[in-house]
Parts: sequence; C-alpha cells; structure tokens
Amino acid sequence: MTIYAGTIVDTPGDPFAEDPGEVLRQDEALLVRDGVIAARGPLAALRAANPGEPVTRLDGGLLVPGFVDTHVHYPQIRAIGGLGLPLLDWLERYALPEECKLADRGYARAVAAEFLGGLVAAGTTSALVFGSHFAPAMEELFAAAAQRDLNITSGLVLSDRKLPPDLLHPPETALADSADLILRWHDHGRLRYAVTPRFSLSASDEMLDACGQLLGKGVWFTSHINENLAEIATVAGLFPGSRHYLDTYARHELVTPRSVFAHNVHPDDAELALLAEHGASVAHCPTSNSALGSGLFPLRRHVEHGVRVALGSDVGAGAGLFLPKEALQAYFMQQLLGPAGLCLNPVHLLYLATRAGALALGLDARVGDFAVGKEFDAVWLRPADGSTLAVNLRNARDTTDALARVFTLATPADVAGVWLRGVRVLEPR
Ligand SMILES: [Zn+2]
Repeated sequence: MTIYAGTIVDTPGDPFAEDPGEVLRQDEALLVRDGVIAARGPLAALRAANPGEPVTRLDGGLLVPGFVDTHVHYPQIRAIGGLGLPLLDWLERYALPEECKLADRGYARAVAAEFLGGLVAAGTTSALVFGSHFAPAMEELFAAAAQRDLNITSGLVLSDRKLPPDLLHPPETALADSADLILRWHDHGRLRYAVTPRFSLSASDEMLDACGQLLGKGVWFTSHINENLAEIATVAGLFPGSRHYLDTYARHELVTPRSVFAHNVHPDDAELALLAEHGASVAHCPTSNSALGSGLFPLRRHVEHGVRVALGSDVGAGAGLFLPKEALQAYFMQQLLGPAGLCLNPVHLLYLATRAGALALGLDARVGDFAVGKEFDAVWLRPADGSTLAVNLRNARDTTDALARVFTLATPADVAGVWLRGVRVLEPR
C-alpha cells in the first residue's frame, strides 16, 4: 500500500448538469492498495488508520486523474504539423501517405512505441485510438499497449473506396481480419476492440453492414462525422437516400451507447436528437478543428440535446497529445462563438479531459476520477521551480484558480509523474 499526499483534485460529478463548484473535489491524500484507491481524505487520518504505510509526497502542482483521449490516430504520430489545408486535402497530402507506410510491420512497431510513449508522456492513461488499415500494424499496437498496461480501445480501420488503393480492403476481408483481432485482443487486460470504418465517405453500405455484424460481438464503435463542409457534401452525394450524415451509420445500427463519433462540427438538430436518443458520444477535437479550419464546435447545442461530449487530440491533425491543450482550445472556441458558445470554467475543463472521456468510453466505473474503488491512473502536474506556471500556481487564490492556471499554461514538460493502476510509469525528469 502507498499513501499519496498532495493537492489531489477530481470531478466525480457533471459540471454541465450541476453547480461546477460542487463538482470539484479536493483531498490531501489517497491510499492505494494493489493499484486501486482504498481511501481518500486528510493525510493525518489516513496515516492514523494505516500506521507504517509509506507516504509518497507530491508537493507542489496538482494530482489529477489520468487524461482520457477519445480520438487520436496512432499511425499519424509522425505526421503532426501539416498546416494550411482543409480536411480532404490534408488527408491526401499528409495523413494518408504516412498511413500507407504502416504496411511495413517493422515500421508499425516503431510507430506504435513512439505513439504509446507519447501518450504516457502527455499524461494520457486511457484512449480510444483510431488504428491502422493493416492488421499486422494493429497486432503491434495491441501488443505494445498490453505491455504498458494502458487503457486502449482500438481497431482495424476499414475502407473500401476513395482512398489510396493500399488502404482499401473488400468487406469480406475486413470482416475476417476484424473478427480475428477481436478474438485475440478484445477484453485482453485493459484492451478493448472498436470497429472503425474511417468515415462513410470511404466505406460503402456493404462495408458498413459488415461493421454492424461485428458490433454484435459486444465491441465498441468509432468513426468520423460532420467534420468539414466538403466532406459532408461528398457523403450526401454518395448516400442519396440518407436523411443526414449520421443516418449513413444509423441505418446499419452503428449508433449505440458504445459509439463515439469524432468532430460533429456541423450537425443538424435531427442528428443531435438521434445521438442523444441512442446514448452515443461525440469526441470534440478543438486544435484539429482549428488547424484544418473545420469550424467552431456547437458545444451548447450538444449539451442542450443531452449528447455526451469528451475531448480528443486528433493527432496528427491536432496540435499534440496533451489533453489540457485541447481543453484550453475548447475554451477559446466557445469564447469565439459569443452568445452561441458555452462559457467553460476550469472545472468543466478538468471534467472534459478526464471523467467525460471515461463516461464516453464506458470506463467510468474504473477510471476518470479518484473515487474509492477506482483504479489509480493519475497524472502529477508539477511545474519546474521558477517557471511561469510555478509563479502562477503560487499566486492562485484557490483550487479552481490553480486549475485555471494549469489549463492555461501547462505543457507536457510539467508532467512530473504518471501512474497506471498504481504503478509509476513516468518519473520526474
Ligand atoms: Zn480523426
């Protein structure tokens, strides 16, 4: 057992439904036994109840739950920074040529190591990962993630049209390869499988039908939706009978409580109602939306319709793997929306980067906050002495104010420790 002592904060409630001030919890200490939180409270009380147990002091900064990234592309870790293009041109110029390289299993192995190492260094302990188009590359990702004990949900990316030929597979092959990966990796330790058509632009009705068959196996589902106006117009042309973009998935029964749709920057009200009705979630990826000029995410409309929203980094279109940066950009974009936006406070930002993601991924009973009984996945954000963040934390009025300073100023350089099920996997530099 270990007692962790510091400024420990989490958001076990929902600040979009309750008073954010009531949602934020703060404690002095956590008792962790076999990777699970056994008690929380004042340090003196935990020490008195557990005499002789070692105390790890995490002085300075904040200890928060491990971040949950609900949309990030493993094959694009080497393709960040392709600025200046809208979605479809960016895919053609930057993302897809890099994704083709993962046909080489050795290349994929190196990319998987870089990707997972990057997640840990950014404090991300759980992620819904958009995979590769190549089954051997998925084997490499799953094997490496199992070794690290990360909470990873991922799957083979499926497409049968409108992409470079190397990335295409007929539905029968997609079905067989996916079924094999599901058998090997779904519910293997902390890993789970997600059926992943790239988007309905590159997946025919036959392919989406195969996806529906795979969902019968109790796995997860993820894809893209309503990211960019040219993409939406192309999808409408490809599915002339569909009511809207979401309908291309809905008519194959792919909109479920286990479905996470990335972006949804341009939804109509019928789509929001359908997402809410089926309990599906949306991954909001604000730096990607900014970089590609995709648009300003209508968070208020999602919340008003009762659609669950969490954050995604969307690397490589996004500007890095660090979720607090996404949270800050989400805040900026809501400010830019003026009265149509939803003014986010620091409690919303912590919630969006942690518990909202756990809820979207169905991991909320295990991670996302520090409630007793949950697994100890945590990040210690502790800036270097003398840094601008350290100066600001020293001048914070209270914990909410300290959180605001962290979300405004922190970078991965401030990640001083990361724990996965109680095991420290990142030490201070
Ligand atoms: Zn994406």
